[in-house]
Amino acid sequence: MKFSNSYAHLDEVFYQRIRPTPVRDPRLLLWNARLAEQLMAPDELVQDLSALAQVFSGNHILPGSEPIAIVYAGHQFGTFVPRLGDGRAHLLGEVLDQSGRRWDIQLKGSGRTSFSRGGDGRCPLGPAVREFIMSEAMKFLGVPTTRCLAVVTTGETVFRETALPGGVVTRVASSHLRIGTFQYFAAQGDQQALETLCRYSMARHYPELQEEGDTPYIQFMKKVMERQIHLVVEWMRVGFIHGVMNTDNTTITGETIDYGPCAMMGIYDPKTVYSSIDTMGRYAFGNQPEILQWNMARFAECLLPLINADTHKAVEAVRPVIEEAFPALFEKEYMNMMGKKLGFTSFREEDRKLIDTFLKQLKDGRLDYTVTFDLLTRSLTSEPAASRMKDELGDCFDLWQKRLRMQTDVSQKVQKLMREHNPVVIPRNHHVEEVIQACLETGNATSAERFLQVLRSPYKELAQTSEYQDPPGDGDKDYRTFCGT
Ligand code: AMP
Ligand code: MG
Repeated sequence: MKFSNSYAHLDEVFYQRIRPTPVRDPRLLLWNARLAEQLMAPDELVQDLSALAQVFSGNHILPGSEPIAIVYAGHQFGTFVPRLGDGRAHLLGEVLDQSGRRWDIQLKGSGRTSFSRGGDGRCPLGPAVREFIMSEAMKFLGVPTTRCLAVVTTGETVFRETALPGGVVTRVASSHLRIGTFQYFAAQGDQQALETLCRYSMARHYPELQEEGDTPYIQFMKKVMERQIHLVVEWMRVGFIHGVMNTDNTTITGETIDYGPCAMMGIYDPKTVYSSIDTMGRYAFGNQPEILQWNMARFAECLLPLINADTHKAVEAVRPVIEEAFPALFEKEYMNMMGKKLGFTSFREEDRKLIDTFLKQLKDGRLDYTVTFDLLTRSLTSEPAASRMKDELGDCFDLWQKRLRMQTDVSQKVQKLMREHNPVVIPRNHHVEEVIQACLETGNATSAERFLQVLRSPYKELAQTSEYQDPPGDGDKDYRTFCGT
């Protein structure tokens, strides 16, 4: 693991240099061996469990690591907070992987920083395990995401409403740059820092833009928008509800970040919300596209002074991107994705109506999103699946079959397409909770590893997949998630 830190070499307005606060008795609970291999973690470290626990708790700092806490701002539930920042996280540095790609290695739960405000800088073990499981599931579902390398138990107690065991999770991300990072400097009117940040971001994530003549910032905004649209469409494909789409949790790389109150939708309903603090349903499943557009508008606002010194002209330059290009691209990507879930090898204008009717049927019939698309895929080759779908979907099923018969493509192609877009298993909320509970009670990761094995193969049934496919008995009626702070 060779560090090559670029962010820590920017001006100090971007971060605070600070080391993690050591923990009492670190022990390794979860380790992501494949990711470690990709990051070229040295064998002598990987083979020494106690050394891993020391390093990924923040007790021991590896040579080359230059720990920092990054500053950022953000809109939380629509309200602007001018200074957030890593209040319980330390960026250990960046490493280059086997293929030369750069990754941030960050500890979360590693102690207080100057951005902690009233917080203790710590993380309970439960949410750390949750982040590991959920991000790994998303990765293998094919959804862009940050990942987890390790979860370490600290041997210390974290006090929330009750006393909880503490944990430190190591997050690997292609960067931690978020809309909130830009908002911090924009709110301060620090145009120089803003420009540095844009140049840094483009060089790191969109090097092709450096060639863009006089409109690099607009092109930058468009790239971020494209990646984020792809991300949210992917969330909608698998039924993921992020739960806290604040601008500080919206990356400029289009990776899912911050698995606090996230959950998977069972019964299809765009109004689904599980987060205990989202009382207004701002971040409900079906609101995610609109919230993303709102977040992109906040991003655009940050870039205005760089786009044109004349604010009016700058606004006129970005308006069409947010108001026209955004909805058009989202709609196109979303319809394409839904069409693929339904086996349409190419999208036709008339499909829009069929997709709407289909989703309405799911909602009205209170059908499980994942089960239904899985059964629909099976109905291509299985008579029992087809007859169940006919019962549950009625006319909709006939319309869908009729639409498929219009395709000249061979049925094998349709089957492959549907299978690639419809998982057989997702990290269902009740299973995630059960597995976290088992980790907390036993102090070992056996049940998590078993679950992870299934989640790493979400489009193919393994022997134990069926243990994790059942929707919750109560339809997640009373399920609530928490921010995990
Ligand atoms: P999050 O909900 O994890 O996105 O965090 C929102 C903000 O609160 C970030 O600035 C975090 O660093 C900060 N924060 C959350 N939990 C803690 C904690 N236990 N101690 C200090 N800061 C925290
Ligand atoms: Mg956050």
